Order: sequence, then structure tokens, then C-alpha cells
Amino acid sequence: MNYNKKSIEDIEVAGKRVLCRCDFNVPTKGGKITSDKRIVAALPTIKYLVDQGAKVILCSHMGKPKGEWKPELSLKIVADRLSELLGKEVIMASDVAGEDSKAKAAALKNGDVMLLENTRYIKGETKNDPELSKALADLADVFVNDAFGTAHRAHSSTAGVADYLPAVCGYLVEKEVSIMGKALANPERPFVAILGGAKVSDKLNVINNLLEKVDTLIIGGGMAYTFLAAKGYGVGTSLLDAEKIDYCKEMMAKAEAKGVNLLLPIDTVVASEFPNPIDGEVSVETVASDAIPADKMGLDIGEKTRALFADAAKNAKTVVWNGPMGVFENPTLAKGTIAVAQALADSDAVTIVGGGDSAAACEQLGFANEITHISTGGGASLEFLEGLELPGIACLQDK
Ligand code: ADP
Ligand code: MG
Repeated sequence: MNYNKKSIEDIEVAGKRVLCRCDFNVPTKGGKITSDKRIVAALPTIKYLVDQGAKVILCSHMGKPKGEWKPELSLKIVADRLSELLGKEVIMASDVAGEDSKAKAAALKNGDVMLLENTRYIKGETKNDPELSKALADLADVFVNDAFGTAHRAHSSTAGVADYLPAVCGYLVEKEVSIMGKALANPERPFVAILGGAKVSDKLNVINNLLEKVDTLIIGGGMAYTFLAAKGYGVGTSLLDAEKIDYCKEMMAKAEAKGVNLLLPIDTVVASEFPNPIDGEVSVETVASDAIPADKMGLDIGEKTRALFADAAKNAKTVVWNGPMGVFENPTLAKGTIAVAQALADSDAVTIVGGGDSAAACEQLGFANEITHISTGGGASLEFLEGLELPGIACLQDK
């Protein structure tokens, strides 16, 4: 995939109708936005377009209305908040590229901003229906994708619309693509990848691609146990993807053949059961990774492993991290994740964190400011690391 894409600064937007796909999928509670982080993050692109005198038409999905007109998933609350942040009116359309959108888009003056309704109110959106893509395109002269979190989806508003309009990226997508693209295509070495978390089967696929690129691959979190099982160790009641044991064996052989340093936990923090509630009290002990008792589950990396992983991360020049090392939501089981976050914070490397829970862990544990880049897209950043083509990026014009 070509990571060098044209951005809003590479084309003329003055006086043009610009359809900009944002990620306004904000968390809400009782009809109120609980975090406006995603709206704030979209401001640089929107302000640039406004300052250039574009007619700005924003769109996004929120939640999963699945083609139903659910009022609680209306983007009106986003329009209100955006209007406060911009200090100017944001015109709210009552439909998605329907009659009202058309009329309002046609009446826009240079520098005006409008927002369409939730794109997933229309069934065609997630099917990448050409009819919806065409209707969206008809509103505008240019398409801008600034939603990285949905860039791995081929939907009408993320990719399909680019079949009919010149398409470029906004600042958010540009940053994601340039930082992660460079790390993958041309990393400063040593290049270390750290994988963890619970979505074992999703993430195991990333390993094959990463082994082509990294000098060291570190595996912790819930993923590690399938590897430990592949080494012939008992893993007790730990997370295990039994169908992937052979794959893990293959990956260990591939690492050896390629001279990649593959690090697995050498000791493990175990408990009798998963804490309930997740941040509730839990009684733990640390055992060697080849001696996990049959009735115990591994919930964090042990102290020796923390030192081993932190050491490898500290000496790197590029680090990509996806997935917590343990059940970090629980203070007793957060030590492995803290150790890795601390190592990233202490290193001079370019550090990139992807994955919703990993990003949350960095923020919750207070390391966010010391990380070079925290990706805004969990699934998208993972597919990026997997070496897959992201439809929402592939559809943009190359530089
Ligand atoms: P991300 O969102 O960063 O991609 P995942 O969603 O794959 O990460 O996994 C995050 C979850 O993994 C966290 O909720 C954490 O509690 C859980 N987790 C980490 N290690 C373990 C483990 N050993 N056993 C069970 N769950 C784990
Ligand atoms: Mg997650």
C-alpha cells in the first residue's frame, strides 16, 4: 500500500463543496456527550477548510443503528458541541444526502459548515451501496477522509464516495498514515513490536507480517498462552486459542529462520479465577511460565518478564505496541502493562500505540503524553500492522 497520500493542503478547496468524513462516533449517556475528544480532534481539519473558504459538509456514523432511524443516535448533539467549539453555526441536515441535505448543501456560502445525519441510518452505508456513495458525492466537489477509525471498512462514506470524487486525507488520517506508514516501511532500528490483549485470534494474524519487519517481537497479555501451549507448556485455565497452536509453532519457526528475537513471558501472575468485578480484589501468585498450575489462569506477566520486556523496549528506536500485558483494569494485575508503558515513556524511540484498550491503558496510567503517537483506530491500526490495504486510505489520491 502507498502511504504517501495527498492531503487537504495539496488541492484547491477554496469555494469548493468539500465532503469530509469525520469520526464523530462519540460516547454518550442520557442524550449527552460524555467525551468530546473525537470532535476536538477533528477541529484542525475543519478549521483549515473553513479558513480556506470551503463549503464544508461533514458526515460520520454514530453507534450501530443498522439502517434504522434511531433518534438517540442522531448527530444533532455533535452539531451543537461542534458549533460551540468552532464558535460558529453548524447547519444540521435532517437526512443523509437526501432532499434536505441537497438543499442545505446547495445554499452553503464559503466558510459555512454543515453536518449530515448519521450515515448508518441508511442501510446502504455499511454495504458500500453505490447509490448512497453517488448521492453523497453529488453533494460535493471534493472528498476528504479524516476518520482513521473506520478506514479499514469499505463503506459508502469511507471509501465508496471516492469512486465519484477526487479524494484526499485530512490532518488526522495524514498523521496516522505517515507515522505508522514510516514505521512499517522504513523503521529506525532496532524495531520492536509488543503484542498483547485478549483478542487472540484477531491479533495472531498480525504476527506473520510483523515477523517480516521487526528485530524483536514481544508477546504478552492473553495472546501469550497460545504460544506457551505451542511450546508444550500447560497453561491452566488461561486464555487459549487451541486452533491456533500450530500457527504459533509456525510463527516460532519463522522467527528463528528470520533471526527475529521472539520474547515470551518467562513468569506469569496467576489467580484461581478472573476477578469479578474486574477491578475487585484478587489473590495472586507468580509462577514460572512452564509451571502454570492446571487450575490457575495467567492474568499478567511476572516481574522477571517485566524486566525482560522493558529492557528490549528501552533499547529500541521504533516501538509499536498493541494490547495490554495483563488485566490492567485491576490494579493488582496492571503491573506488567505499567512496566511496558514506562519503558516506552523512558525510551527515545518513536513509540506508537494502537488498540482501544492499550490507548486507554496509557491514558489511565498517565503515560499518554510521553508516547509519540496513540492511534485513534483500534481495528484500523491492527489491519495496518497486518499489512492489509485499508479501503478508506487506498481510495485517496497518491502524492
Ligand atoms: P486493544 O483494545 O488494545 O486492542 P484487546 O481488546 O485485544 O486490546 O485486549 C484488551 C483486554 O485484554 C483488556 O481488557 C485486558 O483486561 C485483557 N487481557 C490482557 N491480558 C489478559 C489475560 N492474561 N487474560 C485475560 N484477559 C487479558
Ligand atoms: Mg479492545
